[in-house]
Amino acid sequence: MDTNALIRPSLRDLKPYSSARDEYTGKEGIFLDANENPYGNLNRYPDPYQRELKSALAQLRNVTSEQVFIGNGSDEVIDLCFRLFCEPGKDKVLQFSPTYGMYKVSAAINDVDVLDCPLDATFEIDLAKALQLIEQQQPKLIFVCSPNNPTGNLFSLKTIKALAAASQGVVIVDEAYIDFANAPSAVSLIDTIDNLIVSQTFSKAWGLAAARVGIAYGNANLITWLSNIKPPYNVSELNQQAALDALADKAGFEQRKRAILEEKQRLISFFKAFPLVEKVYPSETNFILIKLPDATGWYERLISQQIITRNRSSVIADSLRITVGTPTENDILINAFKA
Ligand code: PMP
Repeated sequence: MDTNALIRPSLRDLKPYSSARDEYTGKEGIFLDANENPYGNLNRYPDPYQRELKSALAQLRNVTSEQVFIGNGSDEVIDLCFRLFCEPGKDKVLQFSPTYGMYKVSAAINDVDVLDCPLDATFEIDLAKALQLIEQQQPKLIFVCSPNNPTGNLFSLKTIKALAAASQGVVIVDEAYIDFANAPSAVSLIDTIDNLIVSQTFSKAWGLAAARVGIAYGNANLITWLSNIKPPYNVSELNQQAALDALADKAGFEQRKRAILEEKQRLISFFKAFPLVEKVYPSETNFILIKLPDATGWYERLISQQIITRNRSSVIADSLRITVGTPTENDILINAFKA
C-alpha cells in the first residue's frame, strides 16, 4: 500500500519544524543553541524523539524503533491520527459503540463525522455490517478498542485483519488494556498490514497515568508522519524517564499485574454470587462491568460513601463499571454492597 496516499493532502508537502536538537544531536558540549537557561536540573529540552524509550519499547514488543511513536498519553495519539489522516469537514471515521468516548470528542474537535456500527448483544462486531459501511462510506479511520472500554471484551486479530483489508483508510487498534488480556497484541500485524496503527499506554498496567505516556506502533512511514506533525517536545524528560524506570522493573510490573488480576477474580466471584447482580460481563481488562437493577441508585449510594465507580447506564442499560482497586479498597466496596 502507498501509505503516503493515506496522509491528509494538505500535509503532504509539510516541512516539519526543525528544533535545535534536530540540528545538533550530540550529547556533550556547551549548549548555546536552544535559548535554554544554563542553570537548574530541568533546564534542558528533552529528546524530541524519545530515542531511549523507543529503543526499550522496540525490544519489549519485538519491533524496530522506527515502528514506535511516543505520545503525550494515547489520547494524543488519537488526536494526531485525526490531524494526520482526516480532512476536516469532509472525511468520516467509524467506531463500534459503546466504546471509548474520546474518539467522538476528538472527531468533533477536528470537524470529522463519526459513523457508528453498534456492537451486537454479546458486544461483538457485526462484521458484515461493518464491511458494508466501509465499502459505502469509506471511513478514513476505523477505531477498534480492544479490549473495549467499557464492555471489557476483546476482538480477534481475524476481525482486525478483515477490517484493514476492506479499508482504504487506517485501522487504529486501541490496546490501552492489552497487558491485562489473555490474548496476543495486534502489534504482531504491523509488519504485514500497512494501514494499521496500534496504540498502547503506560497509564494502565504500567501504573503511570499521571505521567502521560502513550505509544503508537505502525509501519515506519506512518510513524515518521506522526512524528512530523507532533509538537516538538511532546513528552517531558521526567515522563520519558518514568516510563524507562517502569520498563526496567519488569518484576514489579508482573507482580502488580498479577495482584490486580487476582483481585479482579475475587470481585467477579463476589458479584456473581450477589443476588441483585444480573450479570457480570466477561472482562479482559482491569475493570468489570456489572448489570444490576437501579444501577444509578447504587452509583449514588456508593458515592455517598466516597466510593466512586462509573455509572455506564446511559450506554449499557443498568450498568456500573468498577475498576479493580487494592485489596483494602475492594474490601470496602464489597462491604458497601453487603451493607
Ligand atoms: N484508550 C482507552 C480505551 C482508554 O480507556 C483510555 C483511558 N481511559 C485511553 C485510551 C487514554 O489513555 P492515556 O492515558 O494513554 O491517554
